[in-house]
Amino acid sequence: KAATAANTSVTTTQQWQRMDAQHHFHPFSNNADIRAEGSRIIERAEGCHLWDSDGKQYLDAFAGLWCVNLGYGRQELVQAASQQMQQLPYYNLFFKTTTTPVIELAHEIADIAPSHMNQVFFTGSGSEANDTVFRMVRRYWDIQNQPERKIIIGRKNGYHGSTVAGASLGGMPGMHKQGDLPIAGVEHVDQPYWYGEGGDLTPHEFGVRAARSLEEKIKALGSHKVAAFIAEPIQGAGGVIIPPDSYWPEIQRIVKKYGILLVVDEVICGFGRTGEWFGSQYYHLQPDLMPIAKGLSSGYLPIGGVVMADHFAETLAKGGDFNHGYTYSGHPVCAAVALENVRILKRERIVERVKDDIGPKFQQAIATLADHPLVGEVRGVGLLGAIELVKDRTTRLRYPDEGSTGTLCRDMALQDGLVLRATGDTMMMSPPLVINDQHLDELITKTKSALDKTWHRLKGK
Ligand code: PMP
Repeated sequence: KAATAANTSVTTTQQWQRMDAQHHFHPFSNNADIRAEGSRIIERAEGCHLWDSDGKQYLDAFAGLWCVNLGYGRQELVQAASQQMQQLPYYNLFFKTTTTPVIELAHEIADIAPSHMNQVFFTGSGSEANDTVFRMVRRYWDIQNQPERKIIIGRKNGYHGSTVAGASLGGMPGMHKQGDLPIAGVEHVDQPYWYGEGGDLTPHEFGVRAARSLEEKIKALGSHKVAAFIAEPIQGAGGVIIPPDSYWPEIQRIVKKYGILLVVDEVICGFGRTGEWFGSQYYHLQPDLMPIAKGLSSGYLPIGGVVMADHFAETLAKGGDFNHGYTYSGHPVCAAVALENVRILKRERIVERVKDDIGPKFQQAIATLADHPLVGEVRGVGLLGAIELVKDRTTRLRYPDEGSTGTLCRDMALQDGLVLRATGDTMMMSPPLVINDQHLDELITKTKSALDKTWHRLKGK
């Protein structure tokens, strides 16, 4: 085994790939394909660019996995980690203990969160945050003497993580098929995906209809059995699905009417992606809980959490011991990095910049792609964008073998040195919040080239 030792500068891409295929089983990947073709190896990054093991440069229009909001290579974050590693590399938050970076981080989050939310429970990831939501919500209703309120309603095509509770709350058929999910006590309602499912309805009409599917579900289940509704402000992994303006006000009315908790999953939208600190502020929502992760530390180290409304935290505190927590809840090094990350976002007014400057420029720039013969719709908010690839722009007809066109376009973009992501035949963008005008030009030129190449390839068939 030692004969193939890595970490020497002479290791070639092929050697890395062979070793990777032999010993590393990848998440969300076809591992048989990896064995046959090898995987892409990313070696370093700076700002908004990545370099692979052959030295090829890519513009990362996806900020890692929607998370590297400050871009790569911020020395302040490296120093925050290093300093905290030396001072206190680990301690836990169990049994009435805390650490100073965690205190300061919770304070900063309370400062930027909606004003009625002032307490944070820390986790190691977004999935752990949603597992925490699952347990907290049930505990809350137990303490309120309504233990029969157990059901949590999510949405079809929502994404809330990969753990058993996270994947159950999410509505991804491909995940549910593997391992008999969702678990009992989770139900799903319609998504507000007008382009894909709106038919002849106006966006406004469709938004109301999608929201009312929640009301119908609540009535069918019996409102006294429903604990909470969970949703992303804008569905990310599902395809950057921007709800029609009528959707969220109607949802807010329904959860209020039936006294159901509202959980707004801010794992992608949180920390500036929409041009507000949280998607909840963008849509004027009143969440009871907000799971967070990703942009909290710009992905430099793994950390997540659940931000709690005051009434919720007070109720939970009344219940005595909360028997839940992770060894790495609020890991001090991750917390120190997240703290510095939030301070930089504030100091450099990066969220304001997304709202007033680079966000609008990004939206204008991607809108120019809407005329392309392969493009059915371009949509976005802040620094989130989506491009729908279709065979027929008027009827919204897709190419056969749905998903293959998106994959082709993604591969064409990679050839040109651009990282985009595809969900089905929807291309998605979520660049670092520090993307500048020059990067934006590169992004549009390369996306256009990828669309052209995809189009020609499809016509040639
Ligand atoms: N919620 C949302 C909205 C997400 O997008 C994700 C990750 N893509 C998660 C939860 C899960 O986060 P993690 O991968 O950190 O567990």
